[in-house]
Amino acid sequence: MSLTLVCECGNNVHFFETGETEEYNVALLEAEDDDVVQVALRVDGMLLRCRFCQRGYKILPTL
Ligand SMILES: [Zn+2]
Repeated sequence: MSLTLVCECGNNVHFFETGETEEYNVALLEAEDDDVVQVALRVDGMLLRCRFCQRGYKILPTL
């Protein structure tokens, strides 16, 4: 699995699989460098914040 956040400021953050699984068929992903992104859970989604320009992106759950 490959997941990359490309911020408007040009910051690229790659997420990689840790190789661990928390539950059946769910791989755990981790940012390759947590100095460049902040990941936080909100009640209504998952917030990714670029540490360079401080812009945030919220991923909404699908219905
Ligand atoms: Zn940015």
